[in-house]
Amino acid sequence: MTDETDPAAPTLGAADLAELAAYGDAQDVAVGDVLFSPGDRSYDFWVILHGEVEILRPDPTGDVLVTVHGDGRFLGELSLLTGQRPYLVARVSRPGRVLRIRIPEFRRLLSERAELADVIFRALMARRELLRTGEGARAVKIIGSRFDGDALALRAFAGRAHLPHVWVDLEDDDDVDVLLASMGVRSVDTPVVVTPTALLRRPSPGEFAQHLGLTFRAPPGYTFDLVVVGSGPAGLAAAVYGASEGLTTVSLDAANAGGQAGASSRIENYVGFPNGISGGELTSRAAIQAQRLGARLNAPCPVGGLRVEHGFLVVELADGSEVPSRSVIVASGARYQRLAVDELERFEGSGVYYAATDLEARQCAGSGVIVVGGGNSAGQAAIYLAQQGSRVTICIRGDDLAKSMSRYLIERIDADARIDVQTSTEVRALDGERHLERVTLEHTPSHERRTVTCAGLFCFIGADPATEWLGDLVALDAGGFVLTDRSLPASVREDGTFLVREPLPFETSVPGVFAVGDVRHGSLKRVAAAVGEGSSAVRSVHEHLASSA
Ligand SMILES: Cc1cc2nc3c(=O)[nH]c(=O)nc-3n(C[C@H](O)[C@H](O)[C@H](O)COP(=O)(O)OP(=O)(O)OC[C@H]3O[C@@H](n4cnc5c(N)ncnc54)[C@H](O)[C@@H]3O)c2cc1C
Repeated sequence: MTDETDPAAPTLGAADLAELAAYGDAQDVAVGDVLFSPGDRSYDFWVILHGEVEILRPDPTGDVLVTVHGDGRFLGELSLLTGQRPYLVARVSRPGRVLRIRIPEFRRLLSERAELADVIFRALMARRELLRTGEGARAVKIIGSRFDGDALALRAFAGRAHLPHVWVDLEDDDDVDVLLASMGVRSVDTPVVVTPTALLRRPSPGEFAQHLGLTFRAPPGYTFDLVVVGSGPAGLAAAVYGASEGLTTVSLDAANAGGQAGASSRIENYVGFPNGISGGELTSRAAIQAQRLGARLNAPCPVGGLRVEHGFLVVELADGSEVPSRSVIVASGARYQRLAVDELERFEGSGVYYAATDLEARQCAGSGVIVVGGGNSAGQAAIYLAQQGSRVTICIRGDDLAKSMSRYLIERIDADARIDVQTSTEVRALDGERHLERVTLEHTPSHERRTVTCAGLFCFIGADPATEWLGDLVALDAGGFVLTDRSLPASVREDGTFLVREPLPFETSVPGVFAVGDVRHGSLKRVAAAVGEGSSAVRSVHEHLASSA
């Protein structure tokens, strides 16, 4: 029987160990044997039949003990599923015998042995949380200034991907030069990422992800059943349903799993969460669920194009590689519109933000901030920022918030003394040294301008569909949203494949290519709707695969 007193460290009983034996190879180990270490490309699932293994964080001053596993324990954490390279060392400290289960067999085990999979999965999740908050996190350091947009991008990526890491803010460090010199780094080289095997100077989130082993490497000669482009709520739902229904599924996202919902501090209208749930939490749970069920999820991994070749769909990645697939679900959602104001780019990430999560809120706590926009996302952001200690001004171009925002949000805003609403007001100028400090606003009817101190300008002024990567392959509406099934023009519905069968639900003008969520013409632009569409579209994928087999 398994002892699960501590979910992060269950001890497997004899029956479980016997069940596991069928999936791996047993081998003897001696003191000092290394089962995995940071130089490795990946690692396997190791079970200690008897003996002891120390998990260590490599450090220039000497290895630091993170934890110890003995008889009946297994090694590893969530990176077993995400593909992240090991960043800790597993070294045998008492001789014995171990079972090595390679990753494909480990995935088979998870899908075939539900009860055992639950125990293992709970432990992998609990260990990730322990690593994020404990000694293990120190294996990966992001060092930079809180005023630097590039540093914020790295932190946002690491935060949304739930990567164990620590953040070292140069602004808080008295001895910045000494710290940087000890690593042979100049301040112009920051932000830097320090891992057990490398020091990355000014990496992009993509380069950081590549170093960690999180970017997508298309298996040569392999054709997937389903490629999902975009891992927002719609894409994650498609990945969960695709993988759980036995389709070989990969979901690729240009930025991070989570999409727009990941940028929402609180989603209040998602069924089953009466107290609301943070968008980050909802989507990171969905991402883990998809991986557990066998989907591959990779980010950052921008898709640059899609073409049809010899009856197959070929997804073209921005790095030039290609992924053949039998079907594609377009779930690339929408991107925020940017304000037309000088110097916007200079302050993006250092005062101008498109999300109001804990990370951005902490940057501005105690200061005045401006939220631009009159939709529900702006309202949620304003309430959250006020709760986190900012004085908030909501600026809208129109004259009445009620024209664009839900009643329940307006009532909360009215009741919150920390939030002020300025109607008929537009942003005219931004100013500051290294970080945004002042914003000039204009009251448009009177043309009266005033400059206010402002540590954060949060823009929620609508979004455009992310469809440029599709070129002219699929039919779009005038706004660039993807047309599907009944909204397809008659010229498409009465041609080619669609002469033989009707377009399937969510099918675009190209048979086998489906579109779901915010990117789809006529969609509801809500998390629950996106999730529903992503899940339902998988049924159409099955029908397409059956008809084209
Ligand atoms: C701040 C905020 C608060 C919100 N609050 C709520 C709320 O409370 N309730 C609610 O129901 N809705 C809310 N919404 C709306 C909701 O988040 C969206 O309707 C939902 O996220 C749409 O999901 P999606 O998967 O269709 O698209 P998105 O969430 O837009 O995800 C699309 C994904 O595709 C990726 N992508 C784009 N182009 C490419 C490419 N070429 N290659 C690879 N990947 C690509 C993007 O990086 C992104 O991750 C909110 C939105 C915002 C911005």
